[in-house]
Amino acid sequence: MPPEPEFVITDLLPAGIERVLVTGGAGFIGGAVVRRLLRDTTAAVFNLDKVGYASDLTSIGPNPRHQLLKVDLADAAATAEAVRVADPDLVMHLAAESHVDRSIDGPGAFIESNVTGSFNLLQAVRTHWEALASERQERFRFHHISTDEVFGSLGPEGRFSETTPYDPRSPYSASKAASDHLVSAWHHTYGLPVVLTNCSNNYGPWQFPEKLIPVVILKAAAGEPIPLYGDGANVRDWLYVEDHVEALLLAATRGRLGQSYCVGGAGDHGSPSERTNKQVVEAICSLMDQLRPEGAPHGRLITPVTDRPGHDRRYAIDAAKITIELGWRPGHSFEEGLGATVRWYLDNLAWCGRVQAQAGYQGQRIGTRAAASQPPA
Ligand code: NAD
Repeated sequence: MPPEPEFVITDLLPAGIERVLVTGGAGFIGGAVVRRLLRDTTAAVFNLDKVGYASDLTSIGPNPRHQLLKVDLADAAATAEAVRVADPDLVMHLAAESHVDRSIDGPGAFIESNVTGSFNLLQAVRTHWEALASERQERFRFHHISTDEVFGSLGPEGRFSETTPYDPRSPYSASKAASDHLVSAWHHTYGLPVVLTNCSNNYGPWQFPEKLIPVVILKAAAGEPIPLYGDGANVRDWLYVEDHVEALLLAATRGRLGQSYCVGGAGDHGSPSERTNKQVVEAICSLMDQLRPEGAPHGRLITPVTDRPGHDRRYAIDAAKITIELGWRPGHSFEEGLGATVRWYLDNLAWCGRVQAQAGYQGQRIGTRAAASQPPA
């Protein structure tokens, strides 16, 4: 076995970054960030998470350098106390309600977590940063993790970049756009040293099974109808979660202050990671045909269903800035990442069943506005 390249381990965090506060570290992407920090650095990792329906800490496991701070960002006093306990050199803010379909049925939770929660965190972090001794204050950074969905919907041509005007169209993307604006405002008004990233759709192991890729794998594995929204022609730019983590750590530690970086599967080689939902579903079905031939052809399970209200047509990212400035490129093709993901879910069906049962979610359709049209309970 070749030795691990040393630069990865020593360079991941610059000297002096010893305490990292990750918010949302019990979720899909935050969990991958926490695992990477625990594996490849010596930093103490504080994981602020309310431990909601999509949370699970199995992937992190016990580690003396990991401390869960079970806090809801909507609670300003608890958030301030968590920041005081963590006493961070770096904050990576991933905590958010993240599922567009749920934001259609219940937008209030998205405003509370993503807007008020980000505001409470910014206030607590600002107090912390202003009180730091000058050397630590100089090093300190706040990294806000956002989505390409804030830019709205593209036609068949073009890609989102850092200069694309914001045009959010779902309650989820509007709440994320609001939090992006708050973060920029705290930089311009109070001088808080911030970096932002806006990433395209992620996929990979440990994603709560309510989003497209895990839902399709689980439906195919169970021999159940695989829902395909609308005409299936909506396009997303897919990025393997470990490649996103790499981009996040680079942006958090090396990104220029006050700047945002778009992150997507395309790198600087066109857009090989763009797929229609129909292509994604068909690719999963053909992997399932190889891995579970007894259920083949899984494509027979694909069932068109009514489209998501306001379903954005196309997202695609121009990641030239992070590639040129920070040397980031995605390390996995869509085919590699998808193959690894399908195999992981098939090997971890028991975990999927457990987290779905905990969340009271069994793969049923949500976000059709049926719930939203009912009076509040
Ligand atoms: P996730 O839903 O898997 O995890 C989010 C975590 O945040 C959960 O553990 C949840 O408990 C926690 N959280 C939510 N509200 C909270 C609150 N008020 N207080 C404390 N904790 C709270 O989401 P994810 O897919 O890992 O996304 C993480 C971040 O990355 C989000 O900010 C999301 O907008 C962004 N993002 C996600 C994608 C994607 O494809 N999943 C793409 C681009 C950006």
